[in-house]
Amino acid sequence: MSDTSSKELESFMEGIKQRDPEQKQFHQAVEEIAANLIPYVKENPKYEDANILERLTEPDRVISFRVTWQMDDGSIRVNRGWRVQFNNSIGPYKGGLRFHPTVCQSVLKFLAFEQIFKNSLTGLPMGGGKGGSNFDPKGKTDNEVMRFCQSFMTELNRHIGEDTDIPAGDIGVGAREISYLFGQYKRIQNRFVGTITGKGLEYGGSQGRKEATGFGCVYFLENMLQHHNNGVSGKTISVSGSGNVALYAIQKANTLGGKVVTASDSSGFIHDPEGICDDKLAFLIDLKEVRRGRISEYADKYSSATFHEGERPWGIAAEIALPCATENEINLDDAKTLVKNGVIAVAEGANMPTELDAIDAFYKAGVYFAPAKAANAGGVAVSGLEQSQNSLRISWSRGEVDARLQEIMHNIHQKCVEYGQEDKIVNYTKGANIAGFVKVADAMLAYGAI
Ligand code: NDP
Repeated sequence: MSDTSSKELESFMEGIKQRDPEQKQFHQAVEEIAANLIPYVKENPKYEDANILERLTEPDRVISFRVTWQMDDGSIRVNRGWRVQFNNSIGPYKGGLRFHPTVCQSVLKFLAFEQIFKNSLTGLPMGGGKGGSNFDPKGKTDNEVMRFCQSFMTELNRHIGEDTDIPAGDIGVGAREISYLFGQYKRIQNRFVGTITGKGLEYGGSQGRKEATGFGCVYFLENMLQHHNNGVSGKTISVSGSGNVALYAIQKANTLGGKVVTASDSSGFIHDPEGICDDKLAFLIDLKEVRRGRISEYADKYSSATFHEGERPWGIAAEIALPCATENEINLDDAKTLVKNGVIAVAEGANMPTELDAIDAFYKAGVYFAPAKAANAGGVAVSGLEQSQNSLRISWSRGEVDARLQEIMHNIHQKCVEYGQEDKIVNYTKGANIAGFVKVADAMLAYGAI
């Protein structure tokens, strides 16, 4: 970046920080994108003249509301709910709901902001949004989760709609929560429409949605490796997380001939040098999706594995790393360790899992780096396909959905190469940021000053 662009980035970020000084995660997400967009906007004055960057970094609206619900013992609890409707220039707001104690406005603004570019990259007509609550489903009974979800939706329903804003799942919001949320939406509205995605197959869900983010991430990885005359087959892979994204990234990596040797949750990670092959993965899926147990049980069951309490998996030697748990889970030291141990590719299944200086370290070391907004766009892409099926009142086969997903991930990879090719390398971060930006920015220009 030139000195002038560096100064402009600093001054731009100063403005963002002054407006919302406490929103650290949001600042981080904006800085990552602005570092690429400021020089691009300079080269394309039509965007600068219309002040597009400033307009893009202020959400259309942030809705905050109280969620009151009852525990099984009769006590009354209060949580806070939010929906950030960031930008609907190319389609209705779209993005998941996160239920986790760390949820706050800053986290949801970063996620909704990233979602604008990710959704644009899919090629589908979807704007950017995100929502959630500081409610923790962990340790709650099904009835408590149901009462929370019903109360949350009693307020949220008035702000969303199949042509307005279409939520889905994220951390802490899986099949169970989506069902309770959609059931309440349908009851209040007395309409059966596709306002929520990630639904069960019996009531409007799409084949392949559950697997889409993890599968999509590995499809992108394979595209990226093939572009560099390489592939997933035969590689040792380190995965973090054991939720929706991680489990199906492991499954697809196995299918393509990779060997996944780690998985984790918030209590620590397991290392299985023999690989989490398909029968062990079936155990892990049951453990996490059905029994909601802890990852240490994997090491109790399989003697080939060890459990490392309170640690992250990045010290284990692997050629590929797939961070699939949460934000900022790879710091500079982790990146240096991964590079020292021979990592050649990193693909972000989670949103913003890699800190900015760690991303720099990967690029400097020549590691192929697939940023979240490209690599994990498969989930929202198949959510978009679920919306289409709901509107048309049809359902596509698993094979049809998977073929579309593969095509979408291939196209996203091509766009990253088109906009991110530098002298010797493809800068996928730059490619994804600019490719995602152009469509949204052109729509904003077309609307004039609104
Ligand atoms: P899940 O809730 O299904 O799983 C999250 C996993 O990450 C769990 O294993 C969880 O462990 C672990 N985890 C969560 N917080 C932390 C933490 N602070 N430290 C260590 N581990 C943690 O969520 P998803 O798999 O759906 O989402 C994972 C990531 O992928 C998120 O960043 C999300 O935004 C992103 N994403 C998800 C999409 C989707 O379709 N689901 C789409 C695109 C992105 P534990 O069980 O102990 O909490």
